[in-house]
Amino acid sequence: MSCSAETVEEDDRLIQIKPAIAKQLKKAKYGIADHATVALCHWTKKSFKHEGDCYKHKFYGISTHGCMEFSPAGMHCENRCVYCWRPMEFYDSLKMDPKQVAEPEVILTKLMIERKELINGYYGDSRNDKQRLDESLLPSHYSISLSGEPTMYPKLPELIKYLHSLKATKSTFLVTNGQEPDMIQRLQDEDALPTQLYLSTNAADYESFKRINRPKYDDSWERWNRTLSMLKHLKTRTVLRITLIRDYNDIKEMIPVFAEMVRKASPHFIEIKSYMHIGRSTNRLEHSNMLEMEEIKNFSEQVSKQSKIFSVMDESFVSRISVLQNNERLIERYIPTCVNTN
Ligand code: SF4
Repeated sequence: MSCSAETVEEDDRLIQIKPAIAKQLKKAKYGIADHATVALCHWTKKSFKHEGDCYKHKFYGISTHGCMEFSPAGMHCENRCVYCWRPMEFYDSLKMDPKQVAEPEVILTKLMIERKELINGYYGDSRNDKQRLDESLLPSHYSISLSGEPTMYPKLPELIKYLHSLKATKSTFLVTNGQEPDMIQRLQDEDALPTQLYLSTNAADYESFKRINRPKYDDSWERWNRTLSMLKHLKTRTVLRITLIRDYNDIKEMIPVFAEMVRKASPHFIEIKSYMHIGRSTNRLEHSNMLEMEEIKNFSEQVSKQSKIFSVMDESFVSRISVLQNNERLIERYIPTCVNTN
């Protein structure tokens, strides 16, 4: 493998996050295992104190303190999205060589130890619910997102199957930027689809796609469209996630284009949310690029009306997000069953 400035090789074998970057990530409270990352999100920490839950709890019934957010490709991504609040300045766009990545079980075992260390710090504060802290050590839900693009990890099917084999697992969510349609096909072919698959959908035309996602691949638009066209055939729950950024993709003229796109793609749900002015994105965008909840609601109502097949299902004011449901592919919104395949 030709090694970039962002990664080094350990024992000439496994891809590792470079020590200087790992140091910065650890300072920002990330746990690290080889090329993978884990963190406790804002809402997980709040739920320890019973101060609120993530919108995924409200929309789909996911336990916030039982959710583990991690990425098997913490510093790899094919895009450089303007709104990314992760440390994308250090991202590596190189493919991950299957011979140089850690095995799923090894990654998860190490990340669990990292997560435990992060959680241990919360036991000292009596405002945190001890039972919730104990429960959070054995996650019931996995959000495969965090930093980087998880579909670049070549053993993703094995990883998802491994997660589904764990006794405590109830559900898995995977968020993709759509740049690896072959991997999505593999997940389907190898019976390794997550419980819910998200496709980031921030542009309805090529010009804004390039401006927002700043992709590295020359055929990025084709790749993304191929992933989009696969959604209605996948044997799992699917979501389009639209992040609206003022003056980038919130313009009125785009609503009919988005409506036509979502009608054709026909996912089960669409989440429409505001860009959040946090993390590293504050170096690239202004606070004023965020939308008010009222604007998110208007946009969502227009998209649902013009698509003719979606209707607004719920919203979370605090997270500035609406969720639309597909009336032609109605499914139970709450994740009902355990996926454990044991
Ligand atoms: S695709 Fe995701 S991880 Fe990659 S740059 Fe965009 S927001 Fe960040």
